[in-house]
Formats: sequence, C-alpha cells, structure tokens
Amino acid sequence: MIDDESHRQPIRYHPLEIVLATRNKKKVEEIRRMFTGIRVTFLDLNAFPDSPECEENGETFADNADLKARAIAAHTLRYALADDSGLVVEALGGAPGIHSARFAGPGASDEQNLQLLLRNLKENTGSDRKARFECVLSLCDPQGHIERFSGVVNGDIVAEPRGANGFGYDPVFVPEGERETFAEMPAWRKDQISHRGRALSALAQTLSRRWSS
Ligand code: IMP
Repeated sequence: MIDDESHRQPIRYHPLEIVLATRNKKKVEEIRRMFTGIRVTFLDLNAFPDSPECEENGETFADNADLKARAIAAHTLRYALADDSGLVVEALGGAPGIHSARFAGPGASDEQNLQLLLRNLKENTGSDRKARFECVLSLCDPQGHIERFSGVVNGDIVAEPRGANGFGYDPVFVPEGERETFAEMPAWRKDQISHRGRALSALAQTLSRRWSS
C-alpha cells in the first residue's frame, strides 16, 4: 500500500496546527476526539472556506488520501491530514471499497448506501458476509512531503441495521470478536478498535515519539 518515495521522509517539524482535509463532520469529530495528549490544534475546512474541492479519482485509499492532503496543504500552507476510508466486502469483489461514500450513486445518503449493500449481499448466493473497514491517513507537510498511517478492522455484515451511533455503514458492521454493531457501541469503544482509531493511534505514537526526542 505504501509505495512511493515521499513517505520515507519523516516529517520533523512540529505541526502546531493541522488542517483536517475533510468535510465529513463525523470524521472530524472522531479525529478530534481521539487525538489527545499531543499539543496540536486541529482546524477544519470551515476556517478555509475557499479550499478547493478535490476530486477523489485515485485507485486506492492511499491515492485518494494523498490527493486530499496535498491539495489542502498547498492551499492552506499548513500541515494537512486527510483520511480516506471505506468498507471492503470480499464476496462483492471488494465493493464498495473506494466508492463507499457514493455506492448508491453521487450524493447518496448513508441509508441508501447501506440498503444497497444489504440488497447486494442478499442476492449474493454465498453466505460469506465477511468485511473489513480500511483507513489510510495521509499527513502532508507544507512542503508537500507525505507520511501515511493505516488501520484495518475485520468483521461481518449483519442482515438488519442496528444502533443509532456513528455514521455510514456502522449499523451493519459487527467487528470480529464483538456482538454489537459499531452503531450500537459507545463512541469510545468504536475508537479503540476501529480502522480510523488504529490509524490515528499509529499517527499519534509516531508524532509524539518524534517530538519528544
Ligand atoms: P471518504 O469520505 O471518501 O473517505 O468515504 C468514506 C465512506 O466510507 C463514508 O462515507 C462511509 O460510507 C464509509 N466509512 C468510512 N469509515 C466509516 C466508519 O467508521 N463507519 C462507517 N462507515 C465508514
């Protein structure tokens, strides 16, 4: 997944401010909530109303995270952190994958995406409902150097949505070893085991190690 030169150049300067390169309020909430213990101020795109809309036309989560982080770092001249994430269902050939947000079409709601997923799985003759969430975080410094952090959580897709927390496909995803869907769990529990939680904790550990030396 990490395949270019740029990720090998460690980001050494303390990013007192990091711009979160996403308009997804739920993601911003999750990132802010989880990134404790490091003296960083997170700014969101509301602070930069003229930020460019970035077309997510990469072929992988990493490509898309890099595209968003680079565009926002170049625009704001600050560190930018972008997340690209989605649900991968092997029985559906990896779908919805990088198309998770627009699985049921451009502008589709979470509910429409989730219902399409359930329909596709019902029509799928196999009983395999295994799935995983993947997350790639790209941190781009103001000079355009990128470092990536990733996280994965394996689980199963249940037949009926359950729970009201979270967003996206949370009501149908039960992580391995758990009984509740992500949408039934309290936020702190999702944070401990989620793909984004894992990627963020890798990022936090790396940055605190670097800055404490
Ligand atoms: P992105 O904004 O292009 O990264 O799209 C991510 C999409 O993947 C979201 O709109 C959701 O549909 C799905 N997704 C990513 N992370 C999660 C999660 O933690 N829970 C539920 N759905 C998620």
